[in-house]
Amino acid sequence: MSTDLFSLKGRTAIVTGANTGLGQGIAIALSQAGANIVAVSRSKPDDTVKAIQASGGKVHVVQASLDTLAPIDDIVAETKRAFGNVDILVNNAGTIRRANALEFSEQDWDAVMSVNLKTAFFLCQACAKEMVAAQRGGKIINIASMLSFQGGIRVASYTASKSGIAGLTKLLANEWAAKGINVNAIAPGYFETNNTDALRKDENRNRDILARIPAGRWGTPDDLGGAAVFLASRASDYVHGTILPVDGGWLAR
Ligand code: NAP
Repeated sequence: MSTDLFSLKGRTAIVTGANTGLGQGIAIALSQAGANIVAVSRSKPDDTVKAIQASGGKVHVVQASLDTLAPIDDIVAETKRAFGNVDILVNNAGTIRRANALEFSEQDWDAVMSVNLKTAFFLCQACAKEMVAAQRGGKIINIASMLSFQGGIRVASYTASKSGIAGLTKLLANEWAAKGINVNAIAPGYFETNNTDALRKDENRNRDILARIPAGRWGTPDDLGGAAVFLASRASDYVHGTILPVDGGWLAR
């Protein structure tokens, strides 16, 4: 099998939340496979830019808060201005709020649902319109979660959003596969990022989680690179609507 199957040379990838954590790992991996990167970040993605440029990659930064749909047109326009086309979208930016369901606030519901689900959907829509118009096909990768399959605890809006993104991924695959757009998701297991800081600091939760991961360790952002490159490349041209766990075996338990 030719490794060209996985080459992203000449393709452009928008990665949201590219300044840190999983988004940073994905942006670097896609760049190393040859893609131009549009790093969409609320905070400055200086480390990501440095890492991409150090290995000869091209990156353009769009600073945006994704609480609302307002920046979407600009993200697409900036991508076309910088690199010509929108070929790959990675909907990675996401947030989490923890509270018991009995006390869960509307604010914590809306804050999570708007970024993790609403903005993610409308970014899919905006990018797919470009992909259809350009007739170059396209790849959309949504970042799901173990809580796309399981219930979790004390994270009502997060579970709703990640279960929602899994369903949406399948719906969009159904609608857009025939248009040459692959829509899939990656469901990360438990990774060392800001998102899981609270869990790792809680001795009991940390011990319980580790004991359940067959691989015996938390994931690190570069553990996601292979799955992201696969789903962004020609290698996955006949893969539609899948939610691909990268979880050290968590779901196998
Ligand atoms: P992270 O380090 O907290 O990164 C989250 C990213 O989303 C950051 O870039 C953050 O920007 C951005 N973001 C959050 N709210 C935003 C907003 N309103 N507007 C714009 N950007 C916003 O956590 P992570 O673990 O890498 O999370 C990345 C994705 O993976 C999320 O969708 C998360 O749900 C998912 N995930 C993570 C795990 C895990 O174990 N870590 C497991 C399953 C799924 P700032 O830095 O500016 O806040």
